[in-house]
Amino acid sequence: MKSVLWKTKNRGKVKNGAVHFLHEHLYSEDFNQPVLFRTSAQRGRDTPIRCSLCNHVRHDGLWKLPEFVSVQIFLSQPVPVIYGICPSCLDLLEDA
Ligand SMILES: [Zn+2]
Repeated sequence: MKSVLWKTKNRGKVKNGAVHFLHEHLYSEDFNQPVLFRTSAQRGRDTPIRCSLCNHVRHDGLWKLPEFVSVQIFLSQPVPVIYGICPSCLDLLEDA
């Protein structure tokens, strides 16, 4: 799996309240260790949340880099996640 940096541009509301995002790929580089996620079959209070836009993962109440959660907390085993939007990306959506 690669670490990917995207630049978000040209965002704006379109009809029916939807928001249009256009991303430009800036670069990719390999992680030092595998970073794996799987969709959790359960949705509990402690289930990690993966941001659908930036891939940060909320674990133990804090938004962290996906590679940190995968490698340091889940020891490179697939991380069971549900999907959502982190506060930073939510701000982008609200500003659009
Ligand atoms: Zn995000």
